[in-house]
Amino acid sequence: MTAERHEFQAETRSLLRLMIHSMYSNKEIFLRELISNASDACDKLRFIATQNPELIGDAELAVELVADKFTNTLTIRDNGIGMSREDVVDNLGTIARSGTKKFMESLSGDQARDTQLIGQFGVGFYSAFIVADKVTVNTRRYDAAEAVVWESTGEGDYTIGVGDKAARGTEVVLHLRDDEKEFLEEPRLSEIVRKYSDHIGLPIKLIRKEGEPETINQARALWTRPKSEISDEDYTSFYEHLSHDYEAPLAWTHQKVEGNLEYTSLLYIPKRAPFDMWDREQQRGVKLYVKRVFIMDRAAELLPPYLRFVRGLVDTADLPLNVSREILQGNRTVDKIRAALVKRVLDLLDDLAANKPDDFKTFWSQFGKVLKEGIVEDHANRDRIAKLLRFASTTAPDTASVSLDEYLGRMPEAQEKILYLTGESLSALRNSPHLEGFRKAGFEVLLLSDRIDEWVVGHLTEYQGKKLESAARGDAAAAGKIETFDKAKHELEFKDVLDRLPKALNERVASARVSARLTESPSCLVAPEHGLSRQLIEILKQSGE
Ligand code: ADP
Ligand code: MG
Repeated sequence: MTAERHEFQAETRSLLRLMIHSMYSNKEIFLRELISNASDACDKLRFIATQNPELIGDAELAVELVADKFTNTLTIRDNGIGMSREDVVDNLGTIARSGTKKFMESLSGDQARDTQLIGQFGVGFYSAFIVADKVTVNTRRYDAAEAVVWESTGEGDYTIGVGDKAARGTEVVLHLRDDEKEFLEEPRLSEIVRKYSDHIGLPIKLIRKEGEPETINQARALWTRPKSEISDEDYTSFYEHLSHDYEAPLAWTHQKVEGNLEYTSLLYIPKRAPFDMWDREQQRGVKLYVKRVFIMDRAAELLPPYLRFVRGLVDTADLPLNVSREILQGNRTVDKIRAALVKRVLDLLDDLAANKPDDFKTFWSQFGKVLKEGIVEDHANRDRIAKLLRFASTTAPDTASVSLDEYLGRMPEAQEKILYLTGESLSALRNSPHLEGFRKAGFEVLLLSDRIDEWVVGHLTEYQGKKLESAARGDAAAAGKIETFDKAKHELEFKDVLDRLPKALNERVASARVSARLTESPSCLVAPEHGLSRQLIEILKQSGE
């Protein structure tokens, strides 16, 4: 049995170094990551077994922990799918894994944040080296003729060879560093498992040389339990398992639906936006289970893109076990579930806005821009989404805190339209001459400085029966009765100047008019009522239109 020696890529080497040296106050997460891999491996096998039930037969899928004080090793063992030689090389070896480099670039030095990243980037396996100075993986894929042994000290290289593991599955043996012996103590192991892995849907057992194995977690998928039995801590730790987030979620909603459609959903709103929220390549979506069998990780079809910040899962009895991404697209059951989930999330946000304003503020600061996409994308729910929007305004010029309802509530009687002004930045907007006349009239103007706002107001033309109108449009004065002067008379009086101005400016303006909009500045540029706004023209220019 000769083993081949391979070099780690330079990237992997620095990743390992970093991992070992940066996680010292959070070492225990290695167990969460390895148990999570073992549980994934069992999920994968269970999925394959839906076509081929004799693969599992009567066997119980489980994760076993063996602490051996004599050899100073902790073993995490599963009877899941296992790995072929090729799998091992791909997953634990040369690491052409795309996550590695991005992970390195994203490390911030803040340990809490960085541990979250380990999970998010799919580099969890390497966390083994936080506590081990040598890791041996014995594995056998369910359909492979031979077993494989992988071994590394986490420095420059690893070896790979033929193994003698007879049973299907994977065994990760951690040769613990001298100062990490606490991870051989049963109470410590139980504590960590309960903290991170209690709700995993398969048993995690402590194996003892003498005495019966002890299952140390609940071993029941959390979402299948009645709500009344689940504590906030349970929901929170399940969320951490699911999302690899280190912060508690902001809010969640757990619902069992029976009748026409049959599904359970458990959806979370995180406290913080993930690093890749704006990465278009990034897969999004919630986990999909069919009758408790894990089907896929990020089923994008179950929620629209503007709710991509939602984490969680859907478990349904209404889809076939062999459902694929292709089948999900345009599937009527999926469409119905999605519509129901959107309502559910919007309800949750309504509730947050009404009852937990501070949490809603956090939500808005992290995900407001994403939610705004919903105004453009989701016609059916436009009004509900509009209700959740928050803007800066001339009344509250520093932060996006004014809702449209609040705006309407204090609108003076003389004002007929909801006024807004779009621009590059809040500070530019605050000083815009366009506001002068409205200020004087006592009309509040919403100040919109996000790139997407231009599209938002393009699609949200009305709210609660009131039209939205740009304060930069030619006849914004029609938003209310603010013109008390006789426009016709003034236009006659200044006819000569008005005619000459466009020519003097080389026709760079379409026309010149008198207006009551200004009280201090002598003139300002306004967009034509039916033309593109200046902002939109800028955006189109930038995108090369
Ligand atoms: P992730 O779990 O996010 O993919 P990891 O670094 O934790 O990233 O694991 C890398 C890969 O190694 C997994 O995707 C899986 O293919 C493989 N792997 C790790 N542990 C096991 C295991 N116990 N059984 C089977 N495959 C495993
Ligand atoms: Mg993992």
